[in-house]
Amino acid sequence: MVHAIFPGSFDPLTNGHVDLLHRALKLFDSVTVAVLVNAEKKPLFTCEARLRLIRRCLPPDRIHVLSFDGLLVDFARKRGAKVLIRGLRAVSDYEYECQMAMMNRDLDPDIETVFLMPKSCYSFLSSRMVKEVAGLGGDVSHLVPPAVLTALKEKFDLDDRDDRPSL
Ligand code: ADP
Repeated sequence: MVHAIFPGSFDPLTNGHVDLLHRALKLFDSVTVAVLVNAEKKPLFTCEARLRLIRRCLPPDRIHVLSFDGLLVDFARKRGAKVLIRGLRAVSDYEYECQMAMMNRDLDPDIETVFLMPKSCYSFLSSRMVKEVAGLGGDVSHLVPPAVLTALKEKFDLDDRDDRPSL
């Protein structure tokens, strides 16, 4: 049984994340989606909300959804996982992802990072873009699962217009 960890901030989950996860499930027996608690200083969604949304959008079979903080390799060891999944979108991801993969290998040589590429239509999709566009009232319905779309609408309808991020 090969178990993999898919770490990230998932603030919020996008169709790019979902695409990657389905690819990972073709390669590994089970995947833990690991939500980084303090990924950003001011995430749009609380960690609990992000976990709830991910659980609602993904089939429970072979997928676990948990939060973590501290070193990713420590979390992976605790879960008995030897594989970390990361996404490579455009070339711009490459340098940062290399640094992380090399550092994680340094910390634990038994854990491998595996890079997967999404369907091309999601190559330029990020949670940050989704938040910015949704915050300005743009249509992101083709970029996020329906439950995330509803959560974004609720979030921005409740918020004061002045708090919206600008592009
Ligand atoms: P973001 O960079 O969108 O804020 P996260 O920090 O949640 O995303 O990223 C978690 C992982 O998911 C990272 O490995 C990232 O490369 C990957 N990822 C995010 N968006 C996409 C996408 N559109 N296609 C493929 N991988 C993605």
